[in-house]
Amino acid sequence: MRLLSIGAFAHATRLSPKALRLYGELGLLPPAFVDPASGYRFYDPAQLERARLVAWLRRLGMPLARIRVVCDLEPARAAGEVAAYWSQVEADTASRRDLAAFLIASLSGRKTAMTGAQEALAIRYAARTDIGRCRESNQDSAYAGSRLLAVADGMGSGGASASAAVIDALRPLDASLPAGDLLNALEQAVEQASVTVGGLEGVGGQGQTGTTVTAMLLSGSQLALVHIGDCRAYLLRDGGLFQITHDHTVVQSLLDEGRITPEEAASHPQRSLLLRAIDGSAVELDTSLHDARAGDRYLLCSDGLTGVVSTEVIRATLRDTGDPDQAAVRLIEAANTGGGPDNVSCVVADIIPLAAPVTG
Ligand code: MN
Repeated sequence: MRLLSIGAFAHATRLSPKALRLYGELGLLPPAFVDPASGYRFYDPAQLERARLVAWLRRLGMPLARIRVVCDLEPARAAGEVAAYWSQVEADTASRRDLAAFLIASLSGRKTAMTGAQEALAIRYAARTDIGRCRESNQDSAYAGSRLLAVADGMGSGGASASAAVIDALRPLDASLPAGDLLNALEQAVEQASVTVGGLEGVGGQGQTGTTVTAMLLSGSQLALVHIGDCRAYLLRDGGLFQITHDHTVVQSLLDEGRITPEEAASHPQRSLLLRAIDGSAVELDTSLHDARAGDRYLLCSDGLTGVVSTEVIRATLRDTGDPDQAAVRLIEAANTGGGPDNVSCVVADIIPLAAPVTG
């Protein structure tokens, strides 16, 4: 048997040596032989067929985890799996088309807002937090006021103090709006909270103390958003639900790299493992500005909700429940019906014209 060098194999399969090394590591396409002295990798010509299938499926955009499944199936079942994948892609494309339409409308709206008069808007809000069914204490903190919305999920021995500290640092922004830049004001408040968290018991140790935070601040028709960790913000606009934050979790990054499938992510044993948090080290916040529009509804929630309640149930509950407090209560009920494995917090906020009466 004559083995092929990684270069010759790469050439024959149109896969790069870098890709081949990754597929080897993942067990998708391990080399037939690795020279123990030089570390050089060699491939069996019999592996060409599998490698070409891998290359084609990558061109199709299939995640590596799913490719591994397809490659191990009989051809007829592999064909069925590719067909199933493709109909899923078409469904995802339809929902991305909706998101693109939303972004186009939102971005062109911003242009008019800058040239025209800013509409004064207010918030009709509710905040609820619940211990869930399994935990001994509630380490989440949630806040909603006439300008500020915030959810924080504490962890470790000082988790409850950490999430409370970040809400305490943000709360003054609700009472009096900062004169300068909205995002700066939010970032400074989080920086200040980070110093407080740095002084708490259990910071830097095993089962480290820390907190996540997702917060929004309204001024005129602008909403500033800061986010770190795995709480989420969603926007319900015209019946469509859009997640406007990106989870800072190990699982989300594996998903982004196509190394696991959404189904694998949902049941991943380490899905709560965070890449970023407020834990006494340098704070790396995501920040963004959004145009608030009358009729929009925002949801800020901890992972105790999204871990057990599907996006479709969240969307239907937000769409079908008029009162923000009722919506928050129903979402928390859904999490507890789903087992309530974690603390759960929901802030629901409706954007309304300023003239309308503000009632909880
Ligand atoms: Mn949690």
